[in-house]
Amino acid sequence: MSDSLDHTLKSVFGYGSFRPPQREVIQRVVAGEDVFLVMPTGGGKSLCYQIPALHREGVAIVVSPLISLMKDQVDGLVDAGVRAACYNSSLTAEESRAVSRQLAQGELDLLYVAPERLLLPDFLERLGGLKLALFAIDEAHCISQWGHDFRPDYVKLGRLRELFPSVPIVAMTATADPETRRDIIRQLGIERATLFVAGFDRPNITYAVIPKQKPVNQLLSFLKGRGDESGIVYALSRKRVEQVTERLQQAGFDAAAYHAGLPDRERSRVQDAFRRDDLRVVVATVAFGMGIDKPNVRFVVHYDLPKSVESYYQETGRAGRDGLPSQALMLFGMGDVMTARSLIENSDNAERVRIELQKLNAMVSYAEALTCRRRALLAYFGEQRDDDCGNCDICNDPPARFDATEAAQKALSCVYRVGERFGSRHVIDVLRGARGQRILELGHDRLSTYGIGAALSTAQWDNIMRQLIHLGYLGQDFSRFGALALTSAARPVLTGETRVILGEPRDLARTEEKLSRRATAVDGAHGPLFKALKALRKELADDAGVPPFVVFSDATLL
Ligand code: ADP
Ligand code: MG
Repeated sequence: MSDSLDHTLKSVFGYGSFRPPQREVIQRVVAGEDVFLVMPTGGGKSLCYQIPALHREGVAIVVSPLISLMKDQVDGLVDAGVRAACYNSSLTAEESRAVSRQLAQGELDLLYVAPERLLLPDFLERLGGLKLALFAIDEAHCISQWGHDFRPDYVKLGRLRELFPSVPIVAMTATADPETRRDIIRQLGIERATLFVAGFDRPNITYAVIPKQKPVNQLLSFLKGRGDESGIVYALSRKRVEQVTERLQQAGFDAAAYHAGLPDRERSRVQDAFRRDDLRVVVATVAFGMGIDKPNVRFVVHYDLPKSVESYYQETGRAGRDGLPSQALMLFGMGDVMTARSLIENSDNAERVRIELQKLNAMVSYAEALTCRRRALLAYFGEQRDDDCGNCDICNDPPARFDATEAAQKALSCVYRVGERFGSRHVIDVLRGARGQRILELGHDRLSTYGIGAALSTAQWDNIMRQLIHLGYLGQDFSRFGALALTSAARPVLTGETRVILGEPRDLARTEEKLSRRATAVDGAHGPLFKALKALRKELADDAGVPPFVVFSDATLL
């Protein structure tokens, strides 16, 4: 099949090779499987349903929210000789009839439909009588209220799975927010879809976080080191933006302020000057950025803590669009965390508060990361990366490392044991054998992992859990109280195939005994961890039909 996919890629679309992970996505869809593809704009999502449409029998139905985008796509396909059409409110009655006829006679490979049209009863009925190749849901985040572009018409797409259970669904989005993605999966009923996340890495951006001490001086010395390069400094509030701008101007920097409180005229002046390279530094609130298409932004500084990892990624992503080396620097102070918290807690929507606090926690955790920043950032979005980037601040000045394989095995086992339904705090309580009421009520004091981590302090476990999240062994579901779940990368850790090396907290390292030594000393070869893992291994093999884990040798445990 691979050869014929290459042939289609070349002969129809004129490209010589697939981008990762296009080939694998296409293979799965051709085989009739559901796929959920998360890829930044421009990554190449369209081919992932267009090629399967040509390799499967029947017509592919593509749902797309914007009529203008639909038309461009269809025109391009028709030029390439593909039998494609669109069906939406821009068609005349006659055009609509023509499309209906083509559809009925099996003359189409792809039909682009607006969601409100697709779900009209008589249209659905017509589809029911046809052979369907697949459904492609473009801009799938429109189905979620958590997304940034909610469209009520999209919600009804949840019926497709019910109505056409055997037709594969390809959902696509560029949204980087894990919570929105989970909502999309639930709503479309594609729980079995294979998730592909790719293309979020921005290799030319170097990430660094420094402790915020004298922020203005720190900023000035950073800027002095950047020659005449231009960039953006993000600050939390309008007032802060103006203060910082003033200090930069006093120090002789070509800087201007940008925030929503300024007159339109002033804002467009700043934006234009920046774009034309007539202004070196824009100090701004997050209001600055939507329309920036300046390719040579060489640095983005976060003077204050961003509100989520997703905003951080988007804001830093404005640097280096031209592909040349660029810097992302963040000043991080605990005071900012307090400020951000109180801003969030101000709202009276309890659900929003809960979710935003969790997003903030993830951001703080990133700022405090002891693992490669790029890996932590990508892991947040679900993109697995196996090696350190080698150029972030952590890679350049790594903390002391210790072999945390056993601690990781304990933590991962415990996450699994509590049913992947609890957040870090509860997992740590179980590991440490805490006797809280909740633990007793849930019967978690009877779990095999109860108390197996008593040798380490809560702070030490907290640090370990964070790093396991940053390295992508654990995923966090913010819509479910930050519940932790194992990722596919966790399995080789549990089987002992992969060792986990973590960073020691820079301040704890001096005062505490080395974690690895303590953990090993407590457990021994047949200690509680050994037993817990053995039982877990058996159960996992029993219930999931997965290949059994390798049996731990004593050597693996020591
Ligand atoms: P997305 O929908 O993810 O934003 P598109 O599917 O519109 O991205 O693709 C973005 C651009 O990349 C298009 O110009 C497309 O033709 C091009 N492209 C996609 N896949 C490949 C490939 N394998 N080789 C070369 N160009 C590609
Ligand atoms: Mg697209």
